[in-house]
Amino acid sequence: MGNSQRRTSPMTTSTPRSREPKHRSTGSYALVLRLPYRRNIQIDKLGLVEFPRGHYIYFGSALGGLDARVARHFSNQKKLHWHADYLSAEAPWEHAWQLPDGKRWECVWAPAAIATDGVDVPAPGFGSSDCRCISHLVRVNNAKEVRELLRGLSPAPRRLRLKPVHSS
Ligand SMILES: [Zn+2]
Repeated sequence: MGNSQRRTSPMTTSTPRSREPKHRSTGSYALVLRLPYRRNIQIDKLGLVEFPRGHYIYFGSALGGLDARVARHFSNQKKLHWHADYLSAEAPWEHAWQLPDGKRWECVWAPAAIATDGVDVPAPGFGSSDCRCISHLVRVNNAKEVRELLRGLSPAPRRLRLKPVHSS
């Protein structure tokens, strides 16, 4: 890189690099699903976990491409890799919230959520093998509590209005 870079064609010089649109937004997300009744689900090496009925919020981030990561979570043809995949194989994610600011907020959001009144942690260690969080998955009672919790986070993610489209 540097001044020695050659201009290959006059056509490529018309658009400065800094003006190119960003093709890969990065940042953090929260995924939401509802379990209409109690389920026992094997979560990889965490073991068989009992999930009470309720609404579940999973916190993650993708610094290599947020849209693609969230779309992957919504795909039903993915291989089981993350703890979140084992859960969504049994009950699909219903909607997503995200904050495409290029930063990792899941380890801020998850502890803040866990510290909130009325929030349960049915699966300690879920998604948090590589950090110090108790869990990246929390449970609340209903959709209203999901909205209040996510809107109350700082910084707060925004709800995606449409389900992500997965390309694979
Ligand atoms: Zn964490």
